Amino acid sequence: MEVRSRRPSERGSNETFSGEVWVDVLVGEGDYQRMRVILVRFAPGARTAWHSHPRGQTFYVLEGRGLAQARGGPVVEVRAGDVVHTPPGEEHWHGAAPDHFMAHIAMWEVDDEGRGAIWGAHVTDAEYRGQVGGG
Ligand code: MN
Repeated sequence: MEVRSRRPSERGSNETFSGEVWVDVLVGEGDYQRMRVILVRFAPGARTAWHSHPRGQTFYVLEGRGLAQARGGPVVEVRAGDVVHTPPGEEHWHGAAPDHFMAHIAMWEVDDEGRGAIWGAHVTDAEYRGQVGGG
């Protein structure tokens, strides 16, 4: 048994996030499970890059206001209490609203090759503002 609250928060990688993002790993590699659980705190305007999850993902918005979009769909607002599910392979991004912080707990499983996410390009400002793609 191990008390995990003493693990340090980590900055989100510039390769997979835009803006200021802090990550706390709750269940990660080496924890004897396929499950992955992280707490992610996004500063206003911060967001993930485009990505998909081979086995899907669920995230629970703890506080603040955020934005999320699946490829080809509209940018949607998410708020505290929302539970968002993305099916396996669906390309998407998620992050804070332009003028609010947002924190969520993200949960997913790795596949047989140990992959939890397939990462793509950063979300451009035009995409973030909903000016391209979507409906
Ligand atoms: Mn995701």
